Amino acid sequence: MSTYAPLPVAFKSGKGAYLTDTNGKDYLDAVAGVAVCSLGHAHPRIAEALAEQARTLIHTSNLYQIPHQIELGERLCALASMDKVFFSNSGAEANEAAVKLARLYGKKQGVEKPNIIVASGSFHGRTLATLSATGSRKVQAGFSPLVSGFVRVDYNDIEAIKKIAEINSDVVAILVEPVQGEGGVIVPDKGYLSQIRQICDDNNWLMMLDEIQTGMGRTGKMFAFQHEENARPDVMTLAKALGNGVPIGACLAAGKAAEVFSPGTHGSTFGGNPLTTRAALTVLDVFESTNVVADAAEMGCYLLEQFQAELRGLEGVVAVRGKGMMIGIELSKSCGDLVKLALEKQLLINVTADKTVRLLPPLIINKEQANTIVTTLVELIKAFLKG
Ligand SMILES: *Cc1c(COP(=O)(O)O)cnc(C)c1O
Repeated sequence: MSTYAPLPVAFKSGKGAYLTDTNGKDYLDAVAGVAVCSLGHAHPRIAEALAEQARTLIHTSNLYQIPHQIELGERLCALASMDKVFFSNSGAEANEAAVKLARLYGKKQGVEKPNIIVASGSFHGRTLATLSATGSRKVQAGFSPLVSGFVRVDYNDIEAIKKIAEINSDVVAILVEPVQGEGGVIVPDKGYLSQIRQICDDNNWLMMLDEIQTGMGRTGKMFAFQHEENARPDVMTLAKALGNGVPIGACLAAGKAAEVFSPGTHGSTFGGNPLTTRAALTVLDVFESTNVVADAAEMGCYLLEQFQAELRGLEGVVAVRGKGMMIGIELSKSCGDLVKLALEKQLLINVTADKTVRLLPPLIINKEQANTIVTTLVELIKAFLKG
């Protein structure tokens, strides 16, 4: 069905930060399948683990114990200082689990109609509950009646959250992205997450972070909340880069939030199966045996500095911002056309929120590749703004 309008290109193979199209032309990939293939395409260790797992056992169902799932859960919890995990197949499903968990948590405290605070400009997925939580008219258009129980505040506005705490006793949780991705790479003020942590503690709310895009090293820490002291959430969702392209999502919970679900309250046929959890385990192996996160932090800083040096202050450039390997260049006009122009230069970029060029390169790019991204894109943007 026509849910996407794909570009006129198809890729037959990939290697590291490059994709090769069906005509044999190579492209430098600064999108990574929308923050998914963070370790690059056709990663040999992941490919080998997947092939071996496919030959051994792909699926059994959650009717039985799945050792890889248990190991992955334990390792993710250790990395994030969380206690329990529910595995899904996508980001939206991970957020669905978080929303259900928050409602059940509220019910257990006697809140009949639990509310969840969400932010303007947010993106949480395309299922009915997650599109209702999403702060975008475009995502919601045509799908009313929406799922109720979401209260919206401006992103990066702590006072707005405090105000709701005073007037709404049905709030049980808050769900935000540490950096808004689809919303245009919006980086909140330092201290935003730790202040939310404090408000949640004061009001007995669950702090829920959607780290589907920001997680797994993307912002230069394993999880974006780790940039701040005292910002560990009660619930955190992951997906995108968790399987480096193999569909897997996760909803992690800590403390009281980890005890909310019981057998029968939630489930998934495919979730956490031997194949996808093996993929994610191998992703963690690579993260733990290399310096990929620290390197990404450094390369992200370098990219941002280069773009700021070249574009800041230019007429038509509103902002150049980012965190780690998540970079946004906001222009003063719609710039979707840049995607096609970059494609002609054999560079893959993304445009989100209509006016923001978004770069999400694989975390493993080297300096030469970073320089190619900067040179190619700066030239295109300058020409585009003149045209
Ligand atoms: C991509 C994304 C989702 C949705 O994930 P899907 O796997 O497409 O369902 C949710 N939240 C954020 C922040 C995302 O970037």
